[in-house]
Formats: sequence, structure tokens, C-alpha cells
Amino acid sequence: MKILEVRNLTVYFYTYAGVVRAVENVSFDLYKGETLAIVGETGSGKSVTTRAITRLVSPPGKIVSGSVIYRRDGEELDLLKLPDEELRKIRGSEIAYVFQDPSSALDPLYTVGYQISETVAAHRGGKIKQYLGEAVELLRRVLIPDPESRSKAYPHQLSGGMKQRSVIAMAISNRPKILIADEPTTAVDVTVQAQLLHLFKKLKEEIGMSIIFITHNMGLVAEHADRVIVMYGGKIVEEGPVDEVFENPRHPYTQGLLRAVINPIKTQERLEPVPGTIPNLINPPAGCRFHPRCPYFIKGKCDVEEPPLVGDRHKVACWLYV
Ligand code: SF4
Ligand code: MG
Repeated sequence: MKILEVRNLTVYFYTYAGVVRAVENVSFDLYKGETLAIVGETGSGKSVTTRAITRLVSPPGKIVSGSVIYRRDGEELDLLKLPDEELRKIRGSEIAYVFQDPSSALDPLYTVGYQISETVAAHRGGKIKQYLGEAVELLRRVLIPDPESRSKAYPHQLSGGMKQRSVIAMAISNRPKILIADEPTTAVDVTVQAQLLHLFKKLKEEIGMSIIFITHNMGLVAEHADRVIVMYGGKIVEEGPVDEVFENPRHPYTQGLLRAVINPIKTQERLEPVPGTIPNLINPPAGCRFHPRCPYFIKGKCDVEEPPLVGDRHKVACWLYV
């Protein structure tokens, strides 16, 4: 069952240097209970796409067109058209985010227990104090040792990994239908990364939530996602079930990403497996945006016409397959 339908999403940034075409005509579905990974280099449009789902795009960024249909108990809401007030109720409770930098989500002046209670109170009403016990339970759930005393700690008294886990506790406090995690593990070490992803899996099973998980790391995708979307230069270039995409990557860019996994360097965070630089999205390459870096480039075709994203379960946007 589809819980989210993103259609033709286009987000531009209006800068002095020109219009940055950050996300263009992006369409995909999210199913109930699945983990969907979005991979791609910095600047490929992963974060902007997921932020745009609940209109978290601030100037000079602007959602230019598209729709985001959220299906809730037989209702269909276009999140891009919903009044601000209604959208605010959905964001943080039904659709929750965990961002890369946990410090930005925590207020240094309040204890983490208080902040979690505050999030719960904001959505359920009542006094912040009455949810302090629940905050401790949530901290226990995200595997924070000695949650009772940690709930009384201020953010600066916690390690990076514990701060990130506190943010996750906050994000799941209202049992969201969709959890969007934007590179939640880049700030923490490999052991904590594995713990966090294991935790997501458990929560997914317990709460039945869907997860959109942004990463640079194809190894994490293989282990933790059901489906994967590969973005390049503001567009989806490949999409499909993880097993199929890993066994049979079609897009030359995906093939490059996967070659880097075969020779994994565990601590590597910024993969640059494909020679060349990311495209300038003010003046993106004509035709296929990957063509300046593509070893299979067909002159007169790839640099002229844009390949459509085609296929059934496993989709690819490349002239080699049309
Ligand atoms: Fe390479 Fe052409 Fe396919 Fe683009 S469309 S990935 S340039 S072969
Ligand atoms: Mg990002």
C-alpha cells in the first residue's frame, strides 16, 4: 500500500549566480512499512527532495511544481497544497525527521528529557511535566544506557551518538507513520551506525512506520533498505528493489557507486567513486546530466536528449536501455 506519492517534484534555488535546478521532475512512491534508501553524491538533490515533502524548503529555495500525496486512513492529502497549520500538525508527528547534525535539533538550554516531553506535549496536549516518564522510556528504547539520569542531562553532556539517539527518541515519540532520516549516521562511528540502523528496523516492525533513509554509503543500503533510489544532478537515474539493483545495476553511475563498495573502506564517508565532478545545476549538462562523466556516452544522443526514467519495478534513465 502506498503511503506517499511524490509526483514531478521540482525545487529551484534563486541565487544571485542564477537559478539552481536542484530537483527536477522527481517522482516516486513510498510504501507502508518499507525502508527506502536515497543515495547519491552531495548536491544530487537527496536532502532537498525529502525536505520538500513537508515543504521544509526555505528561501532562496522554492518548490516550483509537483504534488506530494499523503494517504492517511482513506484520506488523500496533497502536502504541497495543505494550509500551513494542518501541515505543521503532520510534520513532527506523522512525518518526522532526523537530520545529520543532532545539535541543530537540540536546545542547549534544556535537558533532553524535557525536550522530548515538550515534543510529546506539543502534539498530544497537556503539561510537559506529565510526559517526563515517557521520555525516559523513549530514551531506553533508543538504547541510551541509564536513561533515567541521562534524561536529566543537557545536550553538551552527551556524546555525539547519544545526542543523535535522543533526537531519534524525539522523532519517534509520536509514533510517526513516516520517518525521514537524512544521513543520521555520518556523525557517529561505525558501531553506533550499526546500532542506529538496527534500532530503525526494530521500530519499523513495532510501529509499522515507513522509513526514507538518505546516505552516501551503499553498504548501509544493502544491509538496511528494501528499495533504493539513486539520484544524480537533481534527478532520479535508477530505482528498484535493493537486491535487483545490487545484482544488476543498470545506470553507469550506479555501476560506479557499486564498484566502490566491492573495495570498501569502512570509514569512507564522501564517496567519489566516479571520475569527474558533480554537475553545475545552474547550467546543467544538456541531455543526460551524467554524460560528461559517462564511459558509455553516445554522441549526438546523450548530450542532446534527456533519457526518460523507464521500467516497472526496476527503473532506469539511460539511453542504453531504451
Ligand atoms: Fe551514459 Fe548516455 Fe546513459 Fe547518460 S544516457 S548514462 S550518458 S549512456
Ligand atoms: Mg544532504
